[in-house]
Amino acid sequence: MRCPFCQSLDTKVLDTDHKAAGGTRRRRECKVCRRRFSTVERVVETMPLVIKKDGRREAFSRTKLTEGIRIACAKQPVSAEAIERLVDRVEAQVAAMNQPEVPARVIGDLVLEGLRELSKVAYIRYAIVYLNLNDLDSVKREIEKLVGSQ
Ligand SMILES: [Zn+2]
Repeated sequence: MRCPFCQSLDTKVLDTDHKAAGGTRRRRECKVCRRRFSTVERVVETMPLVIKKDGRREAFSRTKLTEGIRIACAKQPVSAEAIERLVDRVEAQVAAMNQPEVPARVIGDLVLEGLRELSKVAYIRYAIVYLNLNDLDSVKREIEKLVGSQ
C-alpha cells in the first residue's frame, strides 16, 4: 500500500477491523514519514449466481465449469491449456455481463461456442449433457446445426 503523503511503499498495518462497514478497514502507518492513514478492502468483482433449469440458484464454480468441459473433451485432441483458455474466456464473459444472476443455459451457450472450434465431438457431448438433449431428434438437430455452420 502506497503512503498517500510521501508515496513510499513502506507502510505497516497497525490494526485491522474486519467488521467495518463497507469492507475490512486497516489502520496504517508510513515507515518513512510516520503519518497514519486508513484503507478499506473491497471485493472488486463478484461472479453472478447461476440460475439452473429448475430455478434453483447456485454459486458460479470455475471448478465445475472446467470439469464439465474436461469430460466433454475426454480422449479428444484438446490440450489442457486449450481447456484452461476456454474456461478463462467463459469466466471473463460471464463476469463482464455484470448481472447478479445468469441462467446456466447462457453459460452453456458460451462454452458450446468455444467447443465448436476445439472439437466437434466435445461440442456434441457437451450439448447432450448441458442442453439436456435427451431425445434423439434434438441431438440430430444439434448435429445438423453444427454441420450446417461449416
Ligand atoms: Zn509516508
